Amino acid sequence: MTEWSSSHAVAGCDGDWNDKLRELLGPKDWSNNLAPIIEKLSSGKRLTIEDGHILYNHQDLSELGNLAHMVKVSRFGKNVFFNSNVHINQTNICVLACKFCAFRRSKKQSDAYAMSIEEYLLEMDKFSDYVDEIHSVGGLHPDWDVEYYTSLISQAKIRHPNISIKALTAVEVKHLANLSNLTIKETLAKLSSSGLDSLPGGGAEILNDQIRAIICNGKESSKEYLDIHRQAHELGIPSNCTMLFGTIESIDDRLIHMDKLRRVADENSLFQCFVPYPFLPDSSRLPQAQLATANEILRTIAVSRLMLDSIPHIKAYRMNIGDELAELALNFGADDIDGTVGQESIMHLAGATSSLDYTTYNLAKLVKDAGFIPVKRNTTYTRFKLVSPKPPQRKRRLKVINA
Ligand code: SF4
Repeated sequence: MTEWSSSHAVAGCDGDWNDKLRELLGPKDWSNNLAPIIEKLSSGKRLTIEDGHILYNHQDLSELGNLAHMVKVSRFGKNVFFNSNVHINQTNICVLACKFCAFRRSKKQSDAYAMSIEEYLLEMDKFSDYVDEIHSVGGLHPDWDVEYYTSLISQAKIRHPNISIKALTAVEVKHLANLSNLTIKETLAKLSSSGLDSLPGGGAEILNDQIRAIICNGKESSKEYLDIHRQAHELGIPSNCTMLFGTIESIDDRLIHMDKLRRVADENSLFQCFVPYPFLPDSSRLPQAQLATANEILRTIAVSRLMLDSIPHIKAYRMNIGDELAELALNFGADDIDGTVGQESIMHLAGATSSLDYTTYNLAKLVKDAGFIPVKRNTTYTRFKLVSPKPPQRKRRLKVINA
C-alpha cells in the first residue's frame, strides 16, 4: 500500500499498538528503577508525573530513548511523517513583547511589516505548485480584527482551494476576539467558516502562570490556552500543541504542562501533534534562561512520547533543533519531522540555522538515511503517501546540431 487514509481520531496510528508494545517490552532486561513504568506501559496504564520525574532523571539516556522508540514503533512502525509546507508570517507588528521573542516589532520600528491581503496571496502563489499547507502565525496587530482574517483566509481558499491553512495561535485568536467583541467560540466559528483548517500549537510556552508572567507577560493564561484549543476541538477544528522549554521552568513544570495537555486530549482526540522545542537565545531578552543541552532536548522528546499517551504524534521540530538533532530524535520517540518549510522567520530570527530549501525528495532522503520510511502526510494526519527519496529523473535530451 503506497497511499492510505485515516480518521482524525486515529491519525494514522496502528489500532493494535498496545499489544505490539507489550510484545516489544517483554523480552528486554530493563533497569530496576524502570520496572514499575514498564509494567504500566505493558498494561496500557497512564504514567504519573512521578513516573515522569524518574524518566527525566534516568541516567541511561539510550535506555530512555529505546523505551520511547518502542512506543513510537508500536504506534507507527518505521514510518516517519512530514508534509510539504511553507511558513508565511503575515506581520511582525505586535502589541506584546514576550521576552523570548526575537521576531516582534512595534509599529514604529523601521523593519516592522504588515502584509496586505494581496501581498499575502502573492507570497502564497510563489509556493502553490508544491506545498499543501500554509502555516501562518504572526504578531498581534493592533488593527487586524476577525473580519480582516476571515477575508484573508477566504480569499486564500478561493485562490488555492487545495492548500490547507493552519493559522493563528491561541493568543492570536484571543486578540481577534477582543478586538471584534466576540466570544472565543464565535471567533473560531467565523474563522472556520472562512476556510481555516487547523490551529498551530504555538504560544503554549509553559503552562504555569507565574512563569508566563515573567517570560510572556500579557499573553493568554494557561487556562485560556487550553480553553481555546478545547473550543476549537468542539467545533471540529484540529490543532497541535507545543512546549517551549529551557527558559526558567523546572522539570516539574514541564511534566505538569504535559499532564494538562493530555487531559484536554482525553476529551476529544483533536490534539494531533505535540511539538516540544527549546528556547533559542539569540536576540531575545532572557539572560536567566537555563538553556537546554542536546541531551535534554532528546530526553524531553522521549519523555513526551511516554507521557502523552492521548496525543498521537510527537514532532522533532527541525526548524528549531536543526536537522542533525531532529534525525537523532527519530530514535527517541519522535515520529514527525515537520515539513519542507520553504521560508520561516520566527525561529530563524531567534538563531535557528536549519535548512529552508528542502524538497519533498531531500526531506525523504533525510528520513531514509536515518533508517526510517518517509511518509508524506496532509496537515491533519488523515491522508498518507509513501515517498521515494530518489529525485525525479531528468528527461534525456538529444543534442540538437544546428546546421
Ligand atoms: S511571541 Fe507572539 S505574542 Fe509574544 S511578542 Fe512575539 S509575536 Fe508577540
